[in-house]
Amino acid sequence: MARAALRNAAVIIAAGGTGRRLGRSVPKQFLKAGAHPILVTAVRAFEQIRIVRQIVVVVPRGYAESTHRLLSRASCTKISAVIEGGKERQDSVRQGLMMLTGEPDVVMVHDAVRPFVTRRVILEVAAEAYRHGAAVVGVRVKDTIKKEGKPGFTRETLPRRLLWAIQTPQGFRPGILEKAHLKAFREHFQGTDDAMLVERLGIPVRIVEGEYTNFKITTREDLVTARNRLKRRK
Ligand code: C5P
Repeated sequence: MARAALRNAAVIIAAGGTGRRLGRSVPKQFLKAGAHPILVTAVRAFEQIRIVRQIVVVVPRGYAESTHRLLSRASCTKISAVIEGGKERQDSVRQGLMMLTGEPDVVMVHDAVRPFVTRRVILEVAAEAYRHGAAVVGVRVKDTIKKEGKPGFTRETLPRRLLWAIQTPQGFRPGILEKAHLKAFREHFQGTDDAMLVERLGIPVRIVEGEYTNFKITTREDLVTARNRLKRRK
């Protein structure tokens, strides 16, 4: 039986981090790069996709009202909620999940600090998630990855042809993501991404080949790179 077309996608933007590793007084997702704060650029990438019907933005404590205003000024019209997140990213995503309304075909989770996500990646992740239940975007690892044994010494080399650096967006059938988060919450399991929680259900996660430019702004150098890229875009 043919499956109905994918029409209704929801997005959770994880922007609840307070990390101040960049040495600024505001969390990095609120720093300006190009015309807008980084978070706004990430949200706008999803706003422009027709199948995206609702966007839930999860922010640090005390930032909900100002973020709401910021997004309205940037003419974002698909924001269904701006809420405060939790201690860890996983807590923020779980809280975001509780705010979804209706019955979206897929839900995507995206880091606010990855403003360079492309339309192609968003559409492929959504389609593959709808088809397989869960999908992530990733890039092939360019370096040789080794595992540490005795602290400071290598123990083994992992086979590079099997290794992927996983990014966001990550997409899921809503029921799968909810089940994965519930299991992790009950078992006090902390993962480093949402797909890891889904893997714990025994569900294989489809990989969509992405782009190295979809990096996570983490260091001061990343911020400089992001600003240069966005300057050229204007
Ligand atoms: O800290 P890290 O760079 O790994 O965070 C990835 C994304 O998760 C960021 O966009 C950050 O704002 C978000 N996050 C969150 N809630 C937390 C911690 C991080 O939404 N408690």
